[in-house]
Amino acid sequence: MVKHMRNGHENKPMNIAGETREPEVRERVLEALRTFGEKTLRYSGEKAGPSILIIGGTHGNEVLGVLVADLLRESLETGALMLKSGEVQLTLGNTRAEADLRTASGGVDLNRIFLPSVISGKEDKGWEGRRVQKITEAIRSSDIVIDLHSTNRPSPAFVCALGDEEHSSVYKWLPRESVVLDPERIVSGGGGSIDEVADDFGKVGICYESGQATDMRNIVPVFEAIRAIMIERGMVDGVLPELPTPSSEYTVVTSIPYDASRPFVFAEGKDQGFAPVAKGEIIGHQGGIPVHSPLNGIILFPKKPEHQESAGLVCYLASREEA
Ligand SMILES: [Zn+2]
Repeated sequence: MVKHMRNGHENKPMNIAGETREPEVRERVLEALRTFGEKTLRYSGEKAGPSILIIGGTHGNEVLGVLVADLLRESLETGALMLKSGEVQLTLGNTRAEADLRTASGGVDLNRIFLPSVISGKEDKGWEGRRVQKITEAIRSSDIVIDLHSTNRPSPAFVCALGDEEHSSVYKWLPRESVVLDPERIVSGGGGSIDEVADDFGKVGICYESGQATDMRNIVPVFEAIRAIMIERGMVDGVLPELPTPSSEYTVVTSIPYDASRPFVFAEGKDQGFAPVAKGEIIGHQGGIPVHSPLNGIILFPKKPEHQESAGLVCYLASREEA
């Protein structure tokens, strides 16, 4: 059983691996890495049916997805989940990433390079590029692709996906407070993420953010959600749980660019994912000059100061969908 994280680390510079990750969690992550390596594990039922791909660990510090994938593996191998029909594929994304970083040191962000040029091999992105090609094979042979992430900053759990019936029929099972729609692909900078490439291949691509990376409370709820997705599609037997409560919807509209000569300082309370903002409200100061929100909505993916330069931005802004 994973113990809940102790509070009181919020104001300390965080090294997720070293300081706030419990030894037990670290041990389980290492065990999962040893079991999976770079393999995609594939389980098939006797009958034909839908194919689901679950990806954990696309970013190195986001271990909840790794543990969910490993729990699915164990359940499928022990028969706790008896797969009757269809197929489940499980893989870990960036198995070389540093435990406390999104990427391997000196490596590239795996979730930005699922691009036609990298998939075809025209553009050489080294080890990560070959990983993209491997994972793309699994995506091509799937119907549903769920990529499990967590956030660096405190945040409720949320889904990033298209909002149509095909997608919502999958993500309706995932524990979440919100759904973030990004039809213009502003967050990925025009494409290149796993859920987007899955959509491009005509699959149902879902990006799930489980909450802050140190928060392990969603392991079992996410596992149960994936089981419900399989029950509903007749892949395993079982009783469907109650649906989680419906979530609010937001649409990504813009970002605040990083400017080295004018450092950005968030206004109080605005450096958290889903912090509400009103049109005209000051969300921070850039080089001492106030920055006003152009919309009614929320702050999304606020970057820590040390991550802003590589991200090229400070945060995104999303508007609230009118019900
Ligand atoms: Zn991530």
